Amino acid sequence: MPDEPIVLPGLAEERREPSAAVCASGHLLAWSLDPSFALDFCPKCGEPVLRSCPHCRAPLPPDPEMLQWVPYHSNCIACGKPYPWRAAEIARAKRTLAEHAEVEAWEAPLHARAAEILDDIVAERAAPSAIVAGLRWLAAHGAESATPAILDVVDRLGTAELKQALRPSFPGSF
Ligand SMILES: [Zn+2]
Ligand SMILES: [Zn+2]
Repeated sequence: MPDEPIVLPGLAEERREPSAAVCASGHLLAWSLDPSFALDFCPKCGEPVLRSCPHCRAPLPPDPEMLQWVPYHSNCIACGKPYPWRAAEIARAKRTLAEHAEVEAWEAPLHARAAEILDDIVAERAAPSAIVAGLRWLAAHGAESATPAILDVVDRLGTAELKQALRPSFPGSF
């Protein structure tokens, strides 16, 4: 059997191999879709359907064995950038945090600390104990709404492990 040819990300798309199909807002339409199957727009929300990373054009890795209801990956394994659905969630979370900061007139260090916690959650490097301590510190300094805002970030963007570790400190949150 001859060696498999090396396939560059851009070429793989031209060769039109099966890929996953996910709409720009994150609806997973297929874990593995034949390229001949026309699916340009999401039947759920009408957004364009992606079959490759918009940053580097690497095809969305398919997995024919995967169950449909498992959410699709967050970041591109070829270039490391968040896929659009993840990037949109992160942008929304940052906006919400900025709104809380404005409404409650947080001092700059408070907003910076809350934003740092958010970044750590998104990058999956947040220590649960540091989040608990950080939220206590924020609440003690008048940033009351930081706690629900950050817990919402954990709910939407945090890992299952992080949720599990935080559950005893924030019962009923996720
Ligand atoms: Zn959609
Ligand atoms: Zn990429």
